[in-house]
Amino acid sequence: MQKTPFVTKSQLETITRSYPTPFHLYDEAGIRRTARAVNQAFSWNPGFREYFAVKATPTPGILKILHEEGCGCDCSSLTELMMSRRCGIVGEEIMFSANETPAEEYVLASELGAIINLDDITHVDFLEQTIGFIPEKISCRYNPGGVYTLGESTEGFQVMDNPGDAKYGMTREQLFQAFRMLKDKGAKEFGIHSFLASNTLSNDYYPALAAQLFRLAVEVQAQTGCHVTFVNLSGGVGVDYKPEQSANDIFAIGEGVRRAYEEILVPAGMGDVSIYTEMGRFMLAPHGHLVTRAIHEKHTYKDYVGVDACAANLMRPAIYGAYHHITVMGKENAPCDHKYDVVGSLCENCDKFAVDRMLPEIEKGDLLVIHDTGAHGFSMGYNYNGRLRSAELLLREDGSVELMRRAETPEDYFATLVW
Ligand SMILES: *Cc1c(COP(=O)(O)O)cnc(C)c1O
Repeated sequence: MQKTPFVTKSQLETITRSYPTPFHLYDEAGIRRTARAVNQAFSWNPGFREYFAVKATPTPGILKILHEEGCGCDCSSLTELMMSRRCGIVGEEIMFSANETPAEEYVLASELGAIINLDDITHVDFLEQTIGFIPEKISCRYNPGGVYTLGESTEGFQVMDNPGDAKYGMTREQLFQAFRMLKDKGAKEFGIHSFLASNTLSNDYYPALAAQLFRLAVEVQAQTGCHVTFVNLSGGVGVDYKPEQSANDIFAIGEGVRRAYEEILVPAGMGDVSIYTEMGRFMLAPHGHLVTRAIHEKHTYKDYVGVDACAANLMRPAIYGAYHHITVMGKENAPCDHKYDVVGSLCENCDKFAVDRMLPEIEKGDLLVIHDTGAHGFSMGYNYNGRLRSAELLLREDGSVELMRRAETPEDYFATLVW
């Protein structure tokens, strides 16, 4: 499907008068639309909750909008827990899913009343020693090992990932044992969590994962007597970064999970299990743009367009070769008859937002929208070459724009120096 920016060129020209490029811009209307669709798709499950993966977009303005739509926070670090608390999101509205977890993080998670998801069996004792008790509601992360393949989907797209090489989660035997240990130590409500594959473009991923976890839940409950009250499908639902890809259908996904639930959990007398999700990318990626301006052009062995954003603002193309669609504002209908590398200023040759991309002719001063940067965009930013993090702006539903986070200044960059 053709990718259309959620702002117009004239809106952007107005915004750039107050906020110079580059900046990340988020679309409130789109964020609410997606959150409502997710909640509706799983409304058949009374306990359903989406815990937004804070690492994808750790920005209070965004977390508060999602909270208004009923979402909680999935946190993995001390500062993510603090960010959630800062937004007034506490208690069971926080899922704490960390690994190699420092003691202080369990302490804060426990103080906030978060649901704690243990990544390893050794953390049963570590948690108890750290906070002095085992919470009544607790979760364990499962890793089935091997290679995870999701057969050819209707899109002709195959999902394959390698849980056996992933550092996360417990083996099946460890999970059973951890549940028994936790029960002996006073836990009463148990959850199972698993994350098998990232950025899946298939309506079958969640249903297939759910079926696997539901079967496991039935066995765990039967064999250990632990009352499983929730199954957490975690993240991994992908987005169509490329125009030729088709988007996931969250209603088909919710319906697929419902079918597995009816087939597996309900007959086992486990119709009280709540479904949790921890989507980051699916919730936010399409609702963010990185807005940048062409500031140079260079013609050597290739044709380059130099922009004022760089990989420090959006790392995915540099580290994964990830595709992000680019719209040259005001030239939406111009022919894509020029082949460019669109590059940032880092002294790293991987600092390219696009390689050999066919685009309309770009002139200095043109505004470029880099699409689908709302998740794992700003948040992966860094300060290499002394580049500074950009501002984050919110496009309100009424068309107004608010600054959620100012751009870093050189003073910020020097602030941590001791001498
Ligand atoms: C990264 C992560 C997520 C979110 O993943 P997405 O691909 O953005 O949906 C959810 N849960 C955990 C534990 C994660 O590490």
